[in-house]
Amino acid sequence: MSAATTPATQKTRSRNHKCQECAKGFHTRGQLRNHLSVHNLVKPFQCHCGDAFATAWRLDTHAKNVHCTARVYRCEVCAKMFKTSSHLRAHGNVHRATARASATDRLPAG
Ligand SMILES: [Zn+2]
Ligand SMILES: [Zn+2]
Ligand SMILES: [Zn+2]
Repeated sequence: MSAATTPATQKTRSRNHKCQECAKGFHTRGQLRNHLSVHNLVKPFQCHCGDAFATAWRLDTHAKNVHCTARVYRCEVCAKMFKTSSHLRAHGNVHRATARASATDRLPAG
């Protein structure tokens, strides 16, 4: 007979796990991962923590925000990231070797 006011007790939890594709929020990581299947996108840029992203800048943003890396050196060719500039420079040889291999002309010695 008396109209009791319904207490809203389930709105306090914040949805920390946001979908990067549609900005939808989820309570748990599992829910988010389950939701991601609906997008079914190819995500070639994978972080060392297991998260994958469709673009390099998303991975870059994730690494900065989540892992708080002081400095990240990113290869402009394949978007691979390194902790030090020397590692990035050493990695650059990989792409140079590939470019050189494409030139099949054999140069005369001298
Ligand atoms: Zn989504
Ligand atoms: Zn990560
Ligand atoms: Zn590279």
